[in-house]
Amino acid sequence: MTIVQPPARDIRLAASVDRSIRLISKGSAAGSTCAPELAKGPWEFDGGPSGYGPGASMGDVIPTGSPRQGALPERYRTASDAELHERIRAAKATLGERVVVLGHFYQRDEVIEHADFTGDSFQLANAAMTRPEAEAIVFCGVHFMAETADLLSRPDQAVILPNLAAGCSMADMADESSVEECWEQLEEVYGDLTATDADGRVPVIPVTYMNSSAALKGFVGRNGGIVCTSSNARTVLEWAFERGQRVLFFPDQHLGRNTAKAMGVPIEQMPMWNPRKPLGGSTAEELADARVILWHGFCSVHRRFTVEQIAQARAEHPGVQVIVHPECPMPVVDAADAAGSTDFIVKAIQAAPAGSTFAIGTEINLVQRLAAEYPQHTIFCLDPVVCPCSTMYRIHPGYLAWVLEELVEGRVVNRITVPDSVADPARLALERMLAAKPPAPAPAPAPAPAGA
Ligand code: SF4
Repeated sequence: MTIVQPPARDIRLAASVDRSIRLISKGSAAGSTCAPELAKGPWEFDGGPSGYGPGASMGDVIPTGSPRQGALPERYRTASDAELHERIRAAKATLGERVVVLGHFYQRDEVIEHADFTGDSFQLANAAMTRPEAEAIVFCGVHFMAETADLLSRPDQAVILPNLAAGCSMADMADESSVEECWEQLEEVYGDLTATDADGRVPVIPVTYMNSSAALKGFVGRNGGIVCTSSNARTVLEWAFERGQRVLFFPDQHLGRNTAKAMGVPIEQMPMWNPRKPLGGSTAEELADARVILWHGFCSVHRRFTVEQIAQARAEHPGVQVIVHPECPMPVVDAADAAGSTDFIVKAIQAAPAGSTFAIGTEINLVQRLAAEYPQHTIFCLDPVVCPCSTMYRIHPGYLAWVLEELVEGRVVNRITVPDSVADPARLALERMLAAKPPAPAPAPAPAPAGA
């Protein structure tokens, strides 16, 4: 596991996406952003009637009943960057070991500089377990990540999400009732979903990506299924194919398709499940022939990357290595030199000889931070438009200062709690993931007899 301790403040802020957005918005820097509203404080979008706010997910439909953030006190909304930095630093110093701050790779630098650990969602949930003395875990990420941290932490540890409006548009594309309804329709097609064939396999195994609600992790736990990350998706699918004739994969169609394709599953045997259509939009015959049923979900950050951007990068930077995240569409993954999780991308850059050039297809905060941390390389984002994840962007330093100062006063705000009825099966699905191992390599052929 790679858990990164944040480097020095001056390195980070030299590359800040927030600063770039402000300069572009004022017309004092070249470039463009996907939404001029990014230059405003995220509180301007809290509690509003609709939408994930400016950024890559601004065109997605936010589900009714999604958590809303109450009004952030004015003293945090009007504070300068320097004041917020000092207030966060002082609150953390007062709290000491009583708090641990986790910063996801896609967070803005002005938050990451205060993180005790940075990493991807599962790395961070595990990192929190190394600080059992902490009474509070402040997760600077999105809602499903805080839920996962709550699943893995002690019951007396409070997991705090600084802005409750920091959901995840991809996770929201698969809700529990739609998946339950899908499951019932699959039972009509396949019959008893617990009945095994001659090889001991059930008709379908549900697999959920880590980027999903705790409710869905609980659903797969109750139904013989498993969780995967972008690092272990292939191992998890192999686990599932040992136990099932096919897989129902949600919420990210692209991770499911890219992983199954790399395993040799034909595209024709990967129908999409659109929850708004009967049988997801497929025929019973297509579902009978399916190996992987892909939920109709996607990440709006990674969907921005295109084959044309890769062609342009190759034309402008001969010898460039193009690495993209497997949440990108299949043609983009096929056109890249490599695809892998955020951890994979970081390690590839760390291992490269000085003077390498990388075009990276993942969230821009991580890409710009890597460019600042590895000046011996040329590193740039495939997408020339500055367009961060809308919901990660909701975690502004103002919210971090607020939740920490509330803790100093003995008050826990924005606590994320998963009820036991959901947490028990969700933990079971996570435990299955941790126990899943890649298949042992085939034994090497016996050496030929001498003289043969
Ligand atoms: S980058 Fe995509 S998957 Fe990650 S939190 Fe943002 S919307 Fe969700």
